[in-house]
Amino acid sequence: MNRFPNLFRIEAEKTCSIASRYNSPLQSFSGCWRWSRNLISDVERSEWSDFLSLLNPLKLSCSEDKWCWIGGSASMFSVAAVKCFLRSNVDFSSNYVFKWSKWVPKKVNILAWRAQMGRIATVDALARRNCFNGDESCVLCGDGQETADHLFRSCAVASEVWFLVSRWCKISPIFAFSLEDLLEVHDFSGLGGKAKDILKGIVMVGWWCIWKARNDRRFSNKYSSAASIVQDIKALGYLWYSNRSKDREVSWENWFSFSFM
Ligand SMILES: [Zn+2]
Repeated sequence: MNRFPNLFRIEAEKTCSIASRYNSPLQSFSGCWRWSRNLISDVERSEWSDFLSLLNPLKLSCSEDKWCWIGGSASMFSVAAVKCFLRSNVDFSSNYVFKWSKWVPKKVNILAWRAQMGRIATVDALARRNCFNGDESCVLCGDGQETADHLFRSCAVASEVWFLVSRWCKISPIFAFSLEDLLEVHDFSGLGGKAKDILKGIVMVGWWCIWKARNDRRFSNKYSSAASIVQDIKALGYLWYSNRSKDREVSWENWFSFSFM
């Protein structure tokens, strides 16, 4: 109904299931529909071709669904196989695996980890839980709904922050299509060794500073420009890196010009 509204419109039996329209002898979804007429318009034909490309690779059988163990080479589920699986460090879920940065404080890692999952108190998340009924637009740019993805990535202020960060780190401009892309930007930056590890942490410090700027604006009506957020990133980043990493000798000049031996 939602995905293929034009096909749904011409189906006579609106409450039918997709499985009941499966043609078992032909092993396809053709010939079992109760459409009120043939497909006429281009949009109907295009929906039909989308439908086929989505579902035709699927083969339905009459046998019952069953659970199957994919956690190891043995096809049988056993406690020993679970032990092997846990020790193998393989993840079969499609969840994004967040990699922590050692030189930034835990509170920053936790903010980044939760933000990536959309589990921070942005107004869209609060509104979903019936805890907010005011203006949901972003306080930094005034344009677009405040979501974690907007605030840290697509917001005009955030985009400027990432542009300034890329100039500071002497890498090509950062283009991210998701928060995960931002967290992995160091892998595709062309940087190596120490600088790569630093950039990974800087993205998280960036989120921390953007979140702080958002809170200052929302709760104290204090305005922070992208340039001042980047100043905060540089200062806080230096404080944390010079105190928490093994590289205690790094000078402010090196940090400021992003040159590391
Ligand atoms: Zn914004």
